[in-house]
This record gives sequence, structure tokens and C-alpha cells, in this order.
Amino acid sequence: MEIIKGIGVSPGVAICSAVIYDAEKSRIPRRSVAPESAKKEIRRLRVAMAEAVQEVANLQTSQADIWDNKIRDIFAVHLHFLRDRSLRKRIVEIILQQSYTAEYAVSVVLRDIAKHFAQADDAYISERVNDIYDIERRLLRHLIGRKREDIQHLTEPVIIVARDLTPGQTASFNTKFIKALATDQGGRTSHTAIMARSLGIPAVVGLASATGKIAAGDTVIVDGNRGTVVIDPDQNTIDEYKRQAAALIEHELELDELAHLPAETTDGVIIELHGNIEFPGEADIALAKGGDGIGLYRTEFLYLEADHQPTEEEHYQAYLTTIRSFGSQPVTIRTFDLGADKFTQAQRDMREPNPFLGLRSIRYCLQNLDMFKTQIRAILRASAHGNIRMMFPLITNLLELRQAKWVVADVKEDLEEQGIKFNDSMPVGIMIETPAAALCAEHLADEVDFFSIGTNDLIQYTLAVDRINQKVASLYSPAHPAVLQLLRTVVQAAKRAKISVSLCGEMASEKDYLPLLLGLGITTLSLAPPMIPEIKKAIRSMSMEQCRAIARKAMGFDTDKQTISYLRAEMQKILPDEE
Ligand code: PEP
Ligand code: MG
Repeated sequence: MEIIKGIGVSPGVAICSAVIYDAEKSRIPRRSVAPESAKKEIRRLRVAMAEAVQEVANLQTSQADIWDNKIRDIFAVHLHFLRDRSLRKRIVEIILQQSYTAEYAVSVVLRDIAKHFAQADDAYISERVNDIYDIERRLLRHLIGRKREDIQHLTEPVIIVARDLTPGQTASFNTKFIKALATDQGGRTSHTAIMARSLGIPAVVGLASATGKIAAGDTVIVDGNRGTVVIDPDQNTIDEYKRQAAALIEHELELDELAHLPAETTDGVIIELHGNIEFPGEADIALAKGGDGIGLYRTEFLYLEADHQPTEEEHYQAYLTTIRSFGSQPVTIRTFDLGADKFTQAQRDMREPNPFLGLRSIRYCLQNLDMFKTQIRAILRASAHGNIRMMFPLITNLLELRQAKWVVADVKEDLEEQGIKFNDSMPVGIMIETPAAALCAEHLADEVDFFSIGTNDLIQYTLAVDRINQKVASLYSPAHPAVLQLLRTVVQAAKRAKISVSLCGEMASEKDYLPLLLGLGITTLSLAPPMIPEIKKAIRSMSMEQCRAIARKAMGFDTDKQTISYLRAEMQKILPDEE
């Protein structure tokens, strides 16, 4: 049994066997088996080699008319290697002599061959290095990995272990069988973490060595609350975690009973709790969890899920589905926030050196006007049927905002000419996600109907800490005095201009920050639907007067560490029975 520590990003506990996702890209852990199991490993190797041969032979047949001679030659070389008895003999010898697993033995032998090829003077041989890696990946996939398509056809519960997962991959997971995620990379506010919370499955990211230590089929416990992963747990540990998992489910059911009660402080102030969603289907969950509307609909998942540019009709239908759950309550549709860690196929092929500082979000939309206009047309058409608000992400200056609003005006004109109905006074707001926007909030406030503070990005840009990089995760702190000052600046600007301000970053679902946010005057929060009941319970246990006093004191500390421990202690007083 071994326990590894990462960052718990989605609560809950799951116990089941592991699947290594995209295993062929991972480093293969050095693992030994008992000497008497060597025969089994050799059998696994034989089967994997035979399957790989069959796979290449099938490809040769099915692609015969398409491949040119060059490609035919490459695959002939692959087949030659896979059928080579001396190669198999070398791998078998290592299994027998060192008691290694078949996958580790394959990796050792093929990487050794690749190393020799790379050093060869003959250009033809040195260029074959990538072929050797290809052969290694193919064999490993047959030995331990599951292909992406296989993940779609699971028949038993599994825990996905991966080096990293893109938000698009995570979005495609079937939660009926995928019970938890454990990744080497990632931070608390990475979009993969956000997806896991929305899907309601436990997740631990930033484990650094999960793919190196866990093998396919290992029993694994993922504890999303503590941020730990237990590999090969003993029976006592399994029993203990099963007890904890049952207690968590019971706690969740108790919290769900608050769904129909208002999020009202003990001195009678109503706080609005909205849901953050990625898919229209989640609107129902947000409603069931007691959400008062949708504060952030991340529409780019329409793109990432489908991997094609959504049509106007696809947008429109998605928005209609979302508003259907909420009647007259607000649904805030954020225009495409593509780029950075949420890239399109085209962006994937042209990765930028600093994607979070690059062509992302509103910048990408303003350079791809046809795509942007298609979405705005659909939002406007849907606005005729519900309480829709439109929101632009990553605004950094007034001109950018004005440009985006001109596009809206343009689309409205077209719709009018075509006699298509829309709500002409649909509120248009922006996300405050950069220090530039926060510091210029006063000017921006004059030209929009509302602000929504995106702390996930605001924190990373203010502190120069990449939100998805686990190596600097400890520096990513919502309580940094610079972040708190920016929050106060934005709230004051909104108040002066008499526009509403909400907060939709992950900070909204971290209970300890709640009194501070309420005390600063942020009375609308938008968060992952599964987190709404817990936050509602906390709100119902505190008074606004108490929050204002806590905020005043919290704003006075010099370091985030002091602020965090103060806020934690205050929350402990408010909810003494909770961890
Ligand atoms: C944010 O940046 O806080 C936000 C809510 O947007 P996203 O997490 O999608 O970048
Ligand atoms: Mg953002």
C-alpha cells in the first residue's frame, strides 16, 4: 500500500480499479512480479504482440488503396519488428531474469533499441527512432492501456489515471462508469478540475507521479477531500474509506434538503446562488440543488465536446434547453472562452508559447467574427424566450468591450431586418478576470449592465501563477492582499455605477472565503451546482453584520497565510461541527 499526495479538487471518495488513460504516452513504472508470475507476464507479452501484428496487418489491408509506397514501407518495418523472434526473446529474457512486468520489459528493450538507432551514423537507421517509439506505444496499448474509444465503452466502474486530461477529454467521460480522476498535472482551477466538480466525481490532480506508480488494474482509492490517492490499499483501509464514503453520501443527502430554502443570512439578507454549468443538461441539476439561476454557462464546451464549429441552430437549441429549467430566473451565457487550456482543433495544431497570455477568449472571438456572430445570433434569438444575459470573458480594455458591443449591435440589425424576434434590452455584462479590468472597473462599469468576477483567471494574472501548473499551485492564493484589493475595487466601481456584481470563480465554492466575500458586498455567487447546498448551509449560519466585521479584519493582514488562518478560524466558529 502506498499513499501519494496531490491537490484535492473535487470532493468525494471512490474505490475501484485503475485505467491508465493514454498510457502509451506515460512513463512506464518499474514494477516487478513474483518469480512464479513470470510465465503469466510472458503470456501477456505473446498476446499483446499477436494483437499488435493483427492490428497492423488489418491496417495494411484496409488502407491498401490509400497508402503510398513510403507509408507501406513504414508499416512493413513495424510488422517486421513485431514478428521478430529475437526481439521477443530479448524481452522474455528480461522478464525471466529481473521479474519485471511485461510492460516494463517492453519499455526497457525498445527504448534501448531506440537509443542505439539514434546514435547510428546511417541517416536511414537514425530516422527509424520514431518507428521504434510507435511500436513501443502500440505494444503498451495492448498490454495496459485503453484506447480513447474504449473509454466510451466501459462496462465496469474505473478510476481514470492520467498524466493530464484536457477539459474536452474530461467532458466526454461517462460518469456511470468513471468514478474518479487522478492526474499527475493540473491545479485547483484548471478546467479539468472544474469539469470534475461539475460532473460530481472525486478528483485529485497535481500528483506528479500517479502514472509512474499506478499500473492498470491496481485497486486505487481517490480521496478528493484530502487530496490523496491510496495505491493497493489493505483491507482495513478499504473498510475505513467505505465508511467515510457512506458518511459523505449521507451528509450530501442532508444538505440536499436545504434546496428549497432561501440562502438567507441569520439577519435576513438574501444571497443569490447561481450555478456554473458547461452543458445545458446541467441546468436541471443546478435547479435541483437549489440554484436561483445560471451565473456562468461556459458555452465553449459546445465546441470542445463536438470538436466541430457549432451551428447557429446547435447554439440556439442548447440555450433553449438551459432556459427551460429556469423560467424567469436569469441565465448568463458567456460567449466562447476558447484558447489557453480549451483549444479548438485548429488551435491545437498551432500551440502558442504562452497560451494564457495569447489569442484566447474575447480576443479569439474578435478575430473570428463569423464564429462570434453565429453565437451572438443564437443568444439573441434565445433571449426572446427567457431571462438571458450575455457576458464577454477576459475583457482587458474599453475598446475591446466596445468592439464586442458593436458586433452585437450589428447582429441585432440583421435580425431586425429579417423580422426575427429577440430581447432588445437583454443585459450585457463582462467578466472581470484581469488586473487591467479590475483597475479600470470604474470606466467599464459605465458601459455594461453587470460584472461577474472570474477569480480563477484574476488570481493567476494578478499573482503571475499559472492556474494549471501544479509546481506553483501553493502560490495560487485567493487570499493574497493584491487579489483582495482588486475585489474591493471592482465591488466599489459596480456600486458607484449601480450595476450588479457577482463572483463566479472557484473561490465562490470555498466556504472559508464566504464571510469575506459577503462582507465585501458580493451578494451573488455562482458555483458548481453540487457545491450549492454546502454554501447555502454556511450562509444560513452567519449574519451579514458578522461578515462585514470579518471582511474588515481580513483586509488588514499583510500576508495571505495570516488571512487564510484567520478566515479558517472564523468559519470554525460559525460551523463548529464541520471539518
Ligand atoms: C474564471 O476565470 O474565474 C472563470 C469563472 O472562468 P473560467 O474558469 O472558465 O476561466
Ligand atoms: Mg476565466
